[in-house]
Amino acid sequence: MAKAAKREYVWLQCKECGDLNYRTSVNVMGGVPKLELRKFCKRERKHSAHKIKRK
Ligand SMILES: [Zn+2]
Repeated sequence: MAKAAKREYVWLQCKECGDLNYRTSVNVMGGVPKLELRKFCKRERKHSAHKIKRK
């Protein structure tokens, strides 16, 4: 019987200006994924790399 996946709410933080632009949930079973996403940054008004930041 598989355990329920452990999910946690995290922020997606812009790597360039440090703004916390998005909230999402990730599966943290076996560690937080090292994930980088190209997202639109409101402050810079362009797409930039965002990384997961735990609270
Ligand atoms: Zn930014």
